[in-house]
Amino acid sequence: MSQQLSRRLALTLAILKPDIVAHPNVVLDIRRKILESGFYFISSKQVKLKSEEAKLFYAEHKGKFFQNRLVSFMSSGPIWAHILCANDAVLKWRKMLGHTKVLKTIYSEPESIRGKYGLTDTRNCAHGSDSAETAQREISFFFPEFNQQQWYDEEHFYFQQGLVEFDSIQCQHLSSNLNKTNYR
Ligand code: ADP
Ligand code: MG
Repeated sequence: MSQQLSRRLALTLAILKPDIVAHPNVVLDIRRKILESGFYFISSKQVKLKSEEAKLFYAEHKGKFFQNRLVSFMSSGPIWAHILCANDAVLKWRKMLGHTKVLKTIYSEPESIRGKYGLTDTRNCAHGSDSAETAQREISFFFPEFNQQQWYDEEHFYFQQGLVEFDSIQCQHLSSNLNKTNYR
């Protein structure tokens, strides 16, 4: 077995923010890019955050000058939350996203997702966890029913071997594990 195949796949949380969820074609375009980059979608759900929930999710930014506008933006409409899986998923997705500040990113990384679709430094179209620890916490925030340890125990092998198919309706890869748990 090659080293590449034997590496443990990582999980990260991606969020498509309200500014682009309002544009279904953009959502499809971003999902296509995600698939072409070799990510697996482990689970996907559309959520409408309450203001208090957005505040909690972004608790690390409490007191910053942009906190209020960030919280009102993130609770202004539906968002998509996706658990993504790949080798080095956290870094790989952050790289695809581009830097936080869109007004610079549109010049420095025009091909990145934020560079291409971001509107302002706040309305920067998508989120990515910034470390493995953050990913674990953020996945639990949006997918409390998803048992990460169980997924690694039961499903990881099938994903690592590529024994999966993409279900575009659920926006989820399903493994050929016949005893799989339904993580939805
Ligand atoms: P990232 O989303 O890249 O991890 P941060 O965690 O620093 O960035 O910030 C969280 C979110 O807050 C950003 O994605 C963006 O929506 C908003 N934000 C961050 N910095 C600014 C800023 N200087 N001005 C306006 N909004 C900001
Ligand atoms: Mg962050």
